[in-house]
Amino acid sequence: MPPLPEHFAGDPGPLGVDLHMHSTASDGALAPADVVALCAERGVTLMALTDHDTVAGVSEAAAAAKRLGVCLLPASELSTRWQGIGIHVVALLPQGAHGALAAGLDAQVEAREARAAVIAQRMEKLGLDNALTRAREQAGPHRPLGRPDFARALVAAGLVPDVATAFRKHLGSGKAGDVKAHWPALADVVGWVVAAGGVAVLAHPLRYGLTRRKRGQLLDDFAAAGGQAAELISGFQNADVTRDLARQLAERELYASLGSDFHFPGGHLAPGSMSPVPRTAVPPVWTHPRLAGFIADCDEPTAGAL
Ligand code: AMP
Ligand code: MN
Ligand code: MN
Ligand code: MN
Repeated sequence: MPPLPEHFAGDPGPLGVDLHMHSTASDGALAPADVVALCAERGVTLMALTDHDTVAGVSEAAAAAKRLGVCLLPASELSTRWQGIGIHVVALLPQGAHGALAAGLDAQVEAREARAAVIAQRMEKLGLDNALTRAREQAGPHRPLGRPDFARALVAAGLVPDVATAFRKHLGSGKAGDVKAHWPALADVVGWVVAAGGVAVLAHPLRYGLTRRKRGQLLDDFAAAGGQAAELISGFQNADVTRDLARQLAERELYASLGSDFHFPGGHLAPGSMSPVPRTAVPPVWTHPRLAGFIADCDEPTAGAL
């Protein structure tokens, strides 16, 4: 693996790092091994597979990563609740999911199921008969349901023209299908991650529609709960906004993570593609003591491999 920078020096080109991507273990289109293969093809050397509320894809991804010489951090993106808003936490898990976190992930599966039933009732009121069955048809039999499955069911039934409209009218923030009550509190989830030896990363802080001040409060509460990092870059974003976010992270001594939030090929996002990182004093998350050793071990030749 080429050496990763210890500091962000400002627009060094693609870093070959992507710590936020999805597979068929949640709402992504590619199997875990295929996400890894795409990363290898695109020059991503350090990656995390961050499926929603599960680590079910990690073992398949890890086997592929080993074969292809990619360093894969076990991870998940957990759904949480903070001040009535759904907030996502990326858990980077060099020691895997164990203890309270493993129990928490089991509970997330049940929470997703209970939540899907509530979303289904609300979609039925909007004219989608048998909403749960229709969402299940979209998801296939193997994974817990999410809002994208209801969005696709609404499109398939001809009630909306496309998924974007389904979210804008019925499933996005503040709409009937935006059900958050089942998720655990942000601080609890951060506690599970930290107790499992992991690094808790506040996912895409710019995508919750918060004012700068409210985002500061979120970062305060996240850091106070033991959260260690936030995504400075999530996909493509405005450079001035990024610099301002970097200041908010620096003030709280948070590390900076970055990721594409890749879900499917053919869209505007691909593994490893995202806005460049500006020059900033905020340290990259891969230099965090909890991750640095794991990443260094990725470079060690495996016994018997030579
Ligand atoms: P859930 O995990 O069930 O709450 O569903 C959230 C997921 O829906 C996100 O991770 C995205 O993949 C997807 N999503 C959220 N907003 C939109 C949108 N406006 N258009 C398309 N997909 C979206
Ligand atoms: Mn998603
Ligand atoms: Mn997210
Ligand atoms: Mn995501």
